Amino acid sequence: MGEFDLVAHIRNRARTRDDVILGIGDDAALLQVPPGKLLVVATDTLNAGVHFRDDTAPADIGWKALAVNLSDLAAMGAEPAWCTLSLSLPEIDPAWVDGFLDGFLGLANAYGVALVGGDTTRGPLSICVTVHGLVDPSRVLRRAGARVGDDLWVTGTLGDAAGALAQLQAGLKSQPELRQRLDRPAPRIAAGRAIADLAHGCIDISDGLLADLGHVCAASNVGAIVEVDKLPGSPALAAAFAGDALRTLQGSGGDDYELCFSAAVDARPAIRRALESIDVQATLIGRIVAGQGVRALRADGSDWIPARTGYVHFT
Ligand code: ADP
Ligand code: MG
Repeated sequence: MGEFDLVAHIRNRARTRDDVILGIGDDAALLQVPPGKLLVVATDTLNAGVHFRDDTAPADIGWKALAVNLSDLAAMGAEPAWCTLSLSLPEIDPAWVDGFLDGFLGLANAYGVALVGGDTTRGPLSICVTVHGLVDPSRVLRRAGARVGDDLWVTGTLGDAAGALAQLQAGLKSQPELRQRLDRPAPRIAAGRAIADLAHGCIDISDGLLADLGHVCAASNVGAIVEVDKLPGSPALAAAFAGDALRTLQGSGGDDYELCFSAAVDARPAIRRALESIDVQATLIGRIVAGQGVRALRADGSDWIPARTGYVHFT
């Protein structure tokens, strides 16, 4: 299989949408943006050995490569529409490619996202995905917008993916529920759209709650207090970790792909209703305060200083 056979194969497996005027096969794609909508674009690269372990199943790599991108659209309140896929492969292994496409296109189909183009080159295993979404200009979510006095919320549970990674790095077998969160994160698209009229500042948690919340604070020119002992965790995580190890996974672990957002205190019932209606857990974890930076407090009110902050490349 050469480059062109591979592209033909991808094209055969990919689904399209009515708003794709021209998809895979020409020099560029032509896409119809509905009048009145904003185009929302995000891109993220996954490198072997940096973003996924070498023993990760191809289908999980494919899933995650798209999921982390969709998560960025979720954090903007956008509805995903299209994507492109740039593949750098050391060789073309048809079984690997089909496994990869099972995961990638499986998730794309689940969200009605059409793969409309990409690039295929030889090199170290690396996957770069760009996603394109649509949003009503009045319903955009941003990092900026958090206000002093706001509640701080988080969707779902935190720390599972980091817990699985910690188990693997310790040479242990990872607990299946935790491993699922590491390999197959579920982008919070529905949640982003459900809170669009209620949230003031929003981010998706990829590098760790405290680090990513720091971006919201910086963009909004406010500070935040997080009550670390209120962070929602899964039963599987609580069974495997406790104390500061658990706090570190939940506060700084990363790879959660949950949404952290702020909203007015009087929006509490509306937020609970909006997220309950789509079956997404919502937890109050702190508040926005005047000042700058993120302060983490234990249940007894003492400061909790994490052993490490979020993941930062090149440090
Ligand atoms: P060009 O040389 O003009 O960049 P390519 O040969 O790279 O064209 O790509 C031909 C067509 O195949 C383009 O429409 C491109 O978007 C698509 N394509 C290439 N690689 C991929 C891929 N990995 N996934 C999806 N589409 C791809
Ligand atoms: Mg090209």
